[in-house]
Amino acid sequence: MNRIVELLKNPPLSLYVHMPWCVRKCPYCDFNSHAAPENLPAADYIRALVADLEQDLPLVWGRPVQSIYFGGGTPSLFSADHIAEFLSAARARLDLRPDIEITLEANPGTIEHDSFTAYAQAGINRVSLGVQSFDDDVLRRIGRIHGRQEIDQSLQLLKSAGISNFNIDLMYALPGQSPAQSRRDIELAISAGPAHISFYQLTIEPNTAFAAQPPTLPVDDVAWDMQQTGMDLLEAVAWEQYEISAFAQAGRQSRHNMNYWRYGDFLAIGAGAHGKITLPAQNTVQRYAKHRHPKRYLQAVESGDWLAQKSVLSNRERVFEFFLNQLRLKQGVYIDDFSPRTGLPWQQVESRVQQAIDKGLLEICQERLRPTGLGWKFVNDIQQMFLP
Ligand code: SF4
Repeated sequence: MNRIVELLKNPPLSLYVHMPWCVRKCPYCDFNSHAAPENLPAADYIRALVADLEQDLPLVWGRPVQSIYFGGGTPSLFSADHIAEFLSAARARLDLRPDIEITLEANPGTIEHDSFTAYAQAGINRVSLGVQSFDDDVLRRIGRIHGRQEIDQSLQLLKSAGISNFNIDLMYALPGQSPAQSRRDIELAISAGPAHISFYQLTIEPNTAFAAQPPTLPVDDVAWDMQQTGMDLLEAVAWEQYEISAFAQAGRQSRHNMNYWRYGDFLAIGAGAHGKITLPAQNTVQRYAKHRHPKRYLQAVESGDWLAQKSVLSNRERVFEFFLNQLRLKQGVYIDDFSPRTGLPWQQVESRVQQAIDKGLLEICQERLRPTGLGWKFVNDIQQMFLP
């Protein structure tokens, strides 16, 4: 049995807020997103979020919150007034750090004229724009509601709202996409002047429309070349790949995502939101999820029953989750984080770490355990060495 040491400490805390509706469901999407009804119950949903937050407050009394992330779904379907209403309720109930990062996910085609200015006035200081591709044909094939024109309009609106801290989400290896189109997407994304680019390969997830009717995708070798070309282009303009799929200009990493990857804590509210909270007084780390379907979630305003599941992580699960997350980071695993975040002594993992070092997959460098060049190609294999 693992020995528990009195080392579990509160890590940095973030707040995730899930907004579960989209104009329509994309065929590749396995997120908790639902086609929006004609009349979005926005006011009811904001009231539910505040009630949900209130119920979670005892989990985090007095702890400063370093980031808030409105994810979805398409949060930009909610007006700036609704976002402002939620943020002012959050300010009244939580200790928000003065330099807090507050991100809103937005999709081109859902941004009303001047919304970004109003979102910025509400407190949003970072936007993540779901561009996916700049090519109209490719966008049509993946069922997006927007085209190049809406992307350009959104980028223009971001600029005029003075939001320079924005991310562009791009995918590659899309149906019918050529290497030249993928390359062009990266070039156009860089020239749009974002602070951050997330560059993901499309994967076909179970229970999606694409899983039922798979499109023809570029073969593995072509997808690999697209990835390498994207990485080379980004490195050539001095962008740092700080995580498997995330690239940032110097000092512009996503603070919110970094907290996930460094195994920080997350208060999670909204339909289907998943949270993780450390409770040192009880020597536990808890995971929990809220009811997934928006209708069921909204009913909880009456019943007060928000939780769909809750579990206390075993020592082995804490070890696995710690490495699963931190190994995604190019800078590697902070050895000093291990005991305060898992409550376990480093000796618990020393032999497995040594095995990975002996295989040339990990190396120790400046208090960090980081994947070698070889290890970076086999991150999944290293993560599996820490499976419970
Ligand atoms: S816009 Fe995003 S969250 Fe919504 S359905 Fe498409 S991929 Fe899913």
